[in-house]
Amino acid sequence: MDSISDPLQTRWKRLQAKIDNLWGDRRQPRWRNSRFLVGFCASLVTVLLLTTTAWAYTVTVSPAAPRLGDTISVRMQPQQGTTEPPTVTMNGITYPSFPMPNGDFRAMVPTSPLDTPGGYMLQITGAEGAQTLAVELGDRNFNTQWITLPPGQTSLGTDHEFARVAAFKSIVTPDKFWNGPLLRPSQGRVSSAYGNRRYYNGDFAEGYYHRGVDYAAANGSPLVAPAAGHIRLVGRVADGFELHGNTIGIDHGQGVLSIMIHLSRIDVQEGDFVQAGQVIGAIGSTGASTGPHLHWGLYVNGVAVDPVPWRFDGVE
Ligand SMILES: [Zn+2]
Repeated sequence: MDSISDPLQTRWKRLQAKIDNLWGDRRQPRWRNSRFLVGFCASLVTVLLLTTTAWAYTVTVSPAAPRLGDTISVRMQPQQGTTEPPTVTMNGITYPSFPMPNGDFRAMVPTSPLDTPGGYMLQITGAEGAQTLAVELGDRNFNTQWITLPPGQTSLGTDHEFARVAAFKSIVTPDKFWNGPLLRPSQGRVSSAYGNRRYYNGDFAEGYYHRGVDYAAANGSPLVAPAAGHIRLVGRVADGFELHGNTIGIDHGQGVLSIMIHLSRIDVQEGDFVQAGQVIGAIGSTGASTGPHLHWGLYVNGVAVDPVPWRFDGVE
């Protein structure tokens, strides 16, 4: 975020300097000076040009005051009717946008407890030019858990499951399959919220946060799809999913993915298309799990975001 090198900022600064010069010295009635009038009119033209050529998307960001874990939805309304999707860059990462039914474009910027709260710039780049928009990412408190690991515990997980899960998390497809707020995937009670941070044997785990929501439910109780989508990952303990246990991954489209782990039963196959509310498996305690529960992770463009806004307000 180097605003000095931003050509638009530089233009604004020059324009600002011009305007400051115009109004800086009020001792003389400068409007009687014809050169002043010419300069003033030229400045007005510059302002209009900047308005029509550079600030070409009308941008709406929601939520207006995002906090850590929120998904920042960036809607861009083209003023010149261009149909090429613009991109949104924040904190050095560029996110795609997708067309909405009314001709607007929308990009989703994920945030997580690992982000630093504070001011960020959204850089919008597209057929109608480039523009920047300031966003304030608010801080938020997450619960902290202290975990004591027995000495000599070996780390779980196979290369096979990590590779498959990583490949799943990178999926971004153009069609949008969710519609309205996401459904509760299990009727069990929430036993662990999104975003919890951890200490292991007294040491803070910098890169760790609870990347989903846990629902405690009886072994064999139903798991439903929180939204429609394509089944793009089915992993089983027998195939090496020793950490995640039996796993289902759903592609809801446009970089929005659900992953469900520790299942006792899987009712779907890769390639299936499932509807919101469809039973796709059953809750269990397979993999690294201390009791029957569902872990539901909601990923947006590769980052586990807080599912709560998606469940209750919905992201359209
Ligand atoms: Zn969990």
